[in-house]
Amino acid sequence: MGVAVPEISIVLPAHNEAGNIAPIASAIAQAMALCGSYEIIFVDDGSTDGTLAEIRAAARDRGIRYLSCTRNFGHQAALRAGLHHARGRAVILMDADFEHPPELIPKLVAAWRGGARIVATRRDDEGVPAAKRLSSRLYYRVLDSIGDVRIEPGSADYMLLDRAVVDVVNRIEDHDIFLRGLVRWLGFPLVTIPYTRGERQHGESS
Ligand code: UDP
Ligand code: MG
Repeated sequence: MGVAVPEISIVLPAHNEAGNIAPIASAIAQAMALCGSYEIIFVDDGSTDGTLAEIRAAARDRGIRYLSCTRNFGHQAALRAGLHHARGRAVILMDADFEHPPELIPKLVAAWRGGARIVATRRDDEGVPAAKRLSSRLYYRVLDSIGDVRIEPGSADYMLLDRAVVDVVNRIEDHDIFLRGLVRWLGFPLVTIPYTRGERQHGESS
C-alpha cells in the first residue's frame, strides 16, 4: 500500500462473496475515476467459500486493502472493523453484492463536497418483492415506535460518513450498535439520496 493517505475510503463487508470481489472492485474503480484518490477496504467476515483468496488476489492492487475476521461476526461488526481501519477524509460503506449500485458513488461524493457530513441513501421500492416490501415497512414502523431516532423506510447501510463522524463512531465502545440509527442520532448534517437496488450478481444473501 502506498504511503499517501487517500481522500476517500470504501469499506465493503463480505461474507461468502467470492464471485463478487473482482467485479465490484473494478466497478468501484470505474465509479471513482473522477472522484479523487481512494482506497478500497474489503472486510472478509469469516467466509467459507474462497472470498478471502479472491480478496488477497484483488489486494495485489495497491489501492486495495483488506481485513480478515477470525470468524463470522456479522455485517454490523464487519462494518465497524472497516471503519476503524479506513483512513480517508470520507468513508463510504457499501455491500459487496452489487445491491448498492457503485454508479451512485459520484453522487455520494458530490453531496459530501457540498457540505453534508453524512450522505445516507434510501432504497426505492421498485423491483422489491411485495413480501419483502411489507416486512421492511413493518420493520421501520417498529423501529420508529421504540427509538427516538427517525429512520426512513428503505434506509440502507449504503452511506458516506465524513471523517468527523467516523471518529465519533469509532470512539463508541458498545458492541451491539445499529449504525443506521446511530449516525442519525449523532445529529450531523445529513443528506439522503434515493437509489434503485441493484441485483445481487453472485452467491446468495447471508
Ligand atoms: N455480510 C457480512 N457478514 C454477514 C452477513 C453479510 O459481512 O454475516 C455482508 C455481505 O457479504 C454483503 C452485506 O454484508 O456484502 C449484506 O449482506 P447480504 O447481502 O447477505 O444481506 P441482504 O442484502 O440480503 O440484506
Ligand atoms: Mg445483499
